[in-house]
Amino acid sequence: MNPAPGLADQSVTTLKGVGPGLRDRLARLGIHSVQDLLFHLPLRYQDRTRITPIGQVRQGQDVMVEGELVSAAVDLGRRRSLFCRLRDESGMIGLRFYYFSAAQRKRLRPGARLRCHGEIRPGRSGYEIYHPEYQDASDRQPVEDRLTPIYPATEGLQQTRLRTLMKQALERLSRQGDTLQEWLPEALCPPGLNFSLTRALQYVHQPPVDARIELLEQGRHPSQQRLAFEELLAHRLSMRRIRQQARQFSAVALPSRNRLTRQLLDHLPFPLTAAQQRVLHEISRDLAEPVPGLRLLQGDVGSGKTVVAALAALQVVENDHQAVIMAPTELLAEQHFISFSEWLTPLGLQVGWLSGRVKGRRRDQQLSLIANGSAQVVVGTHALFQDDVQFHRLGLVIIDEQHRFGVHQRLALREKGATTDNRRLPHQLVMTATPIPRTLAMSAYADLEVSVIDELPPGRTPVNTVVISNERREQVIDRIRDTCRRGSQVYWVCTLIEDSEAVQCQAAEATAEQLSALLPELRIALVHGRMKPADKTRVMEAFKSGEFQLLVATTVIEVGVDVPNASVMIIENPERLGLAQLHQLRGRVGRGSRASHCILLYQTPLSEVGRERLMIMRDSNDGFHIAEEDLRLRGPGQVLGTRQTGLMDFRVADLERDGELLALTLTPADRLLHEHPRHVDPLIRRWLGER
Ligand code: ADP
Ligand code: MG
Repeated sequence: MNPAPGLADQSVTTLKGVGPGLRDRLARLGIHSVQDLLFHLPLRYQDRTRITPIGQVRQGQDVMVEGELVSAAVDLGRRRSLFCRLRDESGMIGLRFYYFSAAQRKRLRPGARLRCHGEIRPGRSGYEIYHPEYQDASDRQPVEDRLTPIYPATEGLQQTRLRTLMKQALERLSRQGDTLQEWLPEALCPPGLNFSLTRALQYVHQPPVDARIELLEQGRHPSQQRLAFEELLAHRLSMRRIRQQARQFSAVALPSRNRLTRQLLDHLPFPLTAAQQRVLHEISRDLAEPVPGLRLLQGDVGSGKTVVAALAALQVVENDHQAVIMAPTELLAEQHFISFSEWLTPLGLQVGWLSGRVKGRRRDQQLSLIANGSAQVVVGTHALFQDDVQFHRLGLVIIDEQHRFGVHQRLALREKGATTDNRRLPHQLVMTATPIPRTLAMSAYADLEVSVIDELPPGRTPVNTVVISNERREQVIDRIRDTCRRGSQVYWVCTLIEDSEAVQCQAAEATAEQLSALLPELRIALVHGRMKPADKTRVMEAFKSGEFQLLVATTVIEVGVDVPNASVMIIENPERLGLAQLHQLRGRVGRGSRASHCILLYQTPLSEVGRERLMIMRDSNDGFHIAEEDLRLRGPGQVLGTRQTGLMDFRVADLERDGELLALTLTPADRLLHEHPRHVDPLIRRWLGER
């Protein structure tokens, strides 16, 4: 029954050399089938088709050189490194390794003949290559006859490994019978891109020597554009599907009655910002319609989405219906519960609460409050979507902070609210803090309603961000001591991207221990992803109540925690995170009245782009601006597996670069729906995954 036969159904374990370990590492990149592997596209390319004489290399060049090692020794400079010299007839160059194993030291002996690849930098000894890729060249094997792809990798999965796997996958692609199904007829592709998916993939993975490398690196080569086009088309079709499905249902019209909403507005200690008023008006209009509303509410961290959600919920309650708000974590849901209770109980309303931690009698009690309608507004986690949770009259589903999940999936998630007669759906509002530039949002989500809060409440002191090298760690420690002495609290975020979550948590544990040794006078707590949710919440609550002064955390604190007394955040290895995620993290400070600081403690050496990215963080507190810059700096394909911006988890397409392609998907989308309706679902599934 599976409509996608062929490579999509062949597990990567059918490839030579893929055992359980490698399978798991591939899975971390989202690669399960041979088809997934083929969709793992190169980030960039290297030209290993010719060897450059060492005497001719220039700074900044990406080159391949070959020669004999004349020396190799550990250099104790500012940072310990293994330093080698490589010589050919034309000159000499340095190779420097900051990380090296005993086995490497053994191989990198004078007399060894090596072929090395890397970028030429000015070093202490003249030109150097840091961490070159190298291979034994004693048998003088021929150079490559194709450009060499560089793939997005993960710890424990090297380029060479990926390349050998890809080679096998490509062989299958060109073999009879093992085909990749073509769901998009060539006739529906724009001029210049009307060739098969198979051909596009073959080209992208193995470009010929004369391919235009600068086009490829910008993602503008026709073979990449062909892929991007198909991907954008799949996204558009998926949004069509979602809307079509919604239109088959009706919804209860819940017009504004200005009663409860008015009361809350009168009680709030602040007036709404103009942006909040505007989006509230947009949501309010949706609710008044007898068709299920489907709206995406975007707003930067701290822009005040929660109160907008509460006001929307009140409009629903005014019409004798229930509203439910779901958050992805226990902690965040609990914060919403506290806010909602504070706002709604004085109005005589009852707020229900359901999470995985609510069990036994308390759970039964909540279930009956929800089922008989006594709880007009219900807050909780995924637990709300269990089968035995029955609503009395559900009018609105609000889902918060969905940047970790695909928004499409969330918008599709509404079965829960279907009324007993299965003909009506509740309205739906998805809130996300992932800021994407407004123009892009409009074109990308042309088929959806989008509201944007593009203004922060007044009186916030912007977070002051500084970028500091890890070599000045001690100064940072002193800073923590000072801050805590003055009664503030501090976050220390460990962002190690390691082989496994386990290793990551161990690293956080080690950091917490080190900091405890260096700061014995402080009360230090640790929270990481492998802790039980209940323990996590307990630690966070204790931190919130001031019991701890310093909280060492993995990125689990990313979502929504509000501790106004925390005024300093240190982010270790920020170069490893996406800017959107850094911005999210930083949004955890600057919530109180105190001046707040964020210290980006980077690891040297930092690449050019890495430096540029951190400078963007330093210079801007504007999530939209940061998102735009992030888009500009990130190459195509880099998004894959990282899900850094969540909303735009495209594999190939880049909305900014491919805006014109997006416009071209309109007619082909219509035609595919009419002429090849059976291709639509497999095409969506290919690019967006299940659901
Ligand atoms: P987010 O959009 O990140 O979810 P929140 O809803 O948590 O932001 O709001 C952040 C903080 O700003 C909360 O403490 C909230 O009470 C406050 N807030 C919201 N709207 C306003 C406003 N118009 N003026 C002042 N403070 C506001
Ligand atoms: Mg929020």
